[in-house]
Amino acid sequence: MQGGFRFFRFRGVDVSVHWTWFLAAAFIIQTRQGAYTSLWWSVVEYLALFLFVLLHEFGHVFACRQTGGQSDQIILWPLGGIAYVNPPQRPSAQLWSIAAGPLVNVVLAALLTVSFLIPLDAKFLDARAFLERLWFINFLLLLFNLLPVYPLDGGQIVRSLLWFWVGKARSLWIACLIGFAGGLAVGALAFLAGLPLTGFIAVYLLWINWGSFQNARTLLRLEKLPRHSRFRCPECQEAAPQGKLWKCPRCQAEFDLFASGGQCPDCGFAAAETSCVHCGRIHPLSAWIRN
Ligand SMILES: [Zn+2]
Ligand SMILES: [Zn+2]
Ligand SMILES: [Zn+2]
Repeated sequence: MQGGFRFFRFRGVDVSVHWTWFLAAAFIIQTRQGAYTSLWWSVVEYLALFLFVLLHEFGHVFACRQTGGQSDQIILWPLGGIAYVNPPQRPSAQLWSIAAGPLVNVVLAALLTVSFLIPLDAKFLDARAFLERLWFINFLLLLFNLLPVYPLDGGQIVRSLLWFWVGKARSLWIACLIGFAGGLAVGALAFLAGLPLTGFIAVYLLWINWGSFQNARTLLRLEKLPRHSRFRCPECQEAAPQGKLWKCPRCQAEFDLFASGGQCPDCGFAAAETSCVHCGRIHPLSAWIRN
């Protein structure tokens, strides 16, 4: 990652922080001047927010691993965190890996709500304001993450639910259309309410959404291709597609890897391994299951 550095490692997960995070921290803590009797409370507030985002991302990581997927990196940006998750290509595994993040915020909301029941003395007004603020921020985080705009958690939940009915490619296609409408709505709201940061986020979401929409179209085209029924991916069991989908790294010729037994028909280059177009995992050609 550029501009980031490793912060710590926990249970095999590398947690990195982008340098802009510190700028944002300094700026946001500054804007909170006067919210408490001491600025230290604002510092603790920001660190608590940091912890909440981190817990949310760890929710994704551990849920993903539970489903048998891989996940070992979290990156924190000023606007939130990203957990790199690669769950198995099944809708249930995807759904659990994504939903676990917002579920962490639901648990935090419950804990904070219970904390309000503790009677606090008048001299602990700062602590009370602090807990109320955390409740509010956590609620905003949850709300934002659940927006049905792909690739936000809400959009990905919609996608994995659709996957049960319409399959992998079509579900992504529909989720991107919903996400596009949602992104435009957020953008319009930002424009009408005069919120430049929200507008920036909307543009960013629309941009990512557009890329995912192109992916969905590629997936749809792949689904329509005839298959090599003899070769199945050892990971996801999908049969390899037929067609000149592979490019020789030596002579750039396009050819059908499985029809030619792994050899480029033009220059004789022999491929030792290939990535599955369905699940993205790389396996040696010999590992592809032959019937
Ligand atoms: Zn999330
Ligand atoms: Zn070649
Ligand atoms: Zn596969």
